[in-house]
Amino acid sequence: MKVFKFGGASLESVERIRQVGQIIQSFPEDKLLIVISAMGKTTNELEKVAQNYYLRKREIAAQLLYNVEQQHMQVAEALLGNRENPLFTQLQQFFTEAEWTLGEKPMRAYDYYYDQLVSLGELLSTAIVSAYFNSVGIHNTWLDVRDVFRTDDNFRDANIDWDITQRQVTEKVLPLFNNTSIVISQGFIGSTDQNESVTLGREGSDYSAAVFANMLDAESQTIWKDVEGLKNADPKLFPNTVNIPEITYGEVIEMAFYGAQVIHPKTIKPLQNKQIPLYVKCFLDKNLPGTVIKEVADIKQLPPIIVLKKNQVLLHITSKDYSFITEEKISGIYEIFHGLKIKINLMQNGAISFSCCIDNNPEKIELLIKTLHNDFKINYNEGLELLTVRYYQDSLLEELSNGHPVLLEQRSPTTIQRLWKK
Ligand code: ASP
Ligand code: MG
Repeated sequence: MKVFKFGGASLESVERIRQVGQIIQSFPEDKLLIVISAMGKTTNELEKVAQNYYLRKREIAAQLLYNVEQQHMQVAEALLGNRENPLFTQLQQFFTEAEWTLGEKPMRAYDYYYDQLVSLGELLSTAIVSAYFNSVGIHNTWLDVRDVFRTDDNFRDANIDWDITQRQVTEKVLPLFNNTSIVISQGFIGSTDQNESVTLGREGSDYSAAVFANMLDAESQTIWKDVEGLKNADPKLFPNTVNIPEITYGEVIEMAFYGAQVIHPKTIKPLQNKQIPLYVKCFLDKNLPGTVIKEVADIKQLPPIIVLKKNQVLLHITSKDYSFITEEKISGIYEIFHGLKIKINLMQNGAISFSCCIDNNPEKIELLIKTLHNDFKINYNEGLELLTVRYYQDSLLEELSNGHPVLLEQRSPTTIQRLWKK
């Protein structure tokens, strides 16, 4: 059994969906569990539906939903040739349910409605792809993942109940492979025990695929992307990036931690725990070598890995009465950060001060200052960038730093981090 994941970019046009079909056809011998995310930018569009609905701008929400409906109907019709297929009834049902939600007065928290509406994207894309595949002889079974992935009700960032989900995967998913060797399901979504839809966090489909891979004891997972494979830096920010042929689970977790938007950070653990290799391949040319992520990799081959986090803020928290910033004080400060869900990207402490770099989120910073201002004086610098380089050489570092004034720096033999003013 192999698990494949296709993201929004691989489904953003009729041609690309056909290309996905060709890729699948080149694996005739395999059992495939295919996880698909929403088409193109659908999730962003559905987020706008949810926002407008919650702001009681119901007409705008309905219009935006209608646009999503039209796009999907057009793609489905182009793929299937007409509207005779039962798919169109299924799509219509999904939209009718979403319209019902829009007709309700919002009584619950925003995140709940967000999930009820935004989960639509994956239901639509998988239904279309599944029906299209069946129509061209790629026989497959469509699976509603909400019947399998059980979560808590932490809407927008739901946590999977591992035991119940494993049981449902074994009881409900495995038998499907007796009918067809391909099962198609949704990434990013799941369900509570009350049958409410949930989402697992933006870009969460990689993680969904990894959960399936773990629970099905898959031999491998492949994420099909529109790029060659994993690169040593974001090609949109840096020239001369190179492809990484192989890399360890640990290194990828570190990259994600430092802010590289490569693979959803939660993806690695379920795979590492069962030693399932993760391939990143290009759906535009499946013969490109891509990247394999696994337990042991040839680290000598690794190029310097570069991550740049933009829009950073450096906070200086100083005790007002000159009392020391002790472990106890730091743990109190950390608790406040944790409560506000603020992630610290870099930190350093002195006798009466504590400095840390965080993503710029003005509302959270304001709350933080309100909470801390009785005991501490707080200053901050905005408009900063945090560079992280693993396996750095000094010459490269100077080239990347390019004379930016550095406000904070930390280095170990393998990793350097520099926070500078842009
Ligand atoms: N469609 C969701 C998103 O855009 C999940 C994913 O793409 O992985 O965030
Ligand atoms: Mg996506």
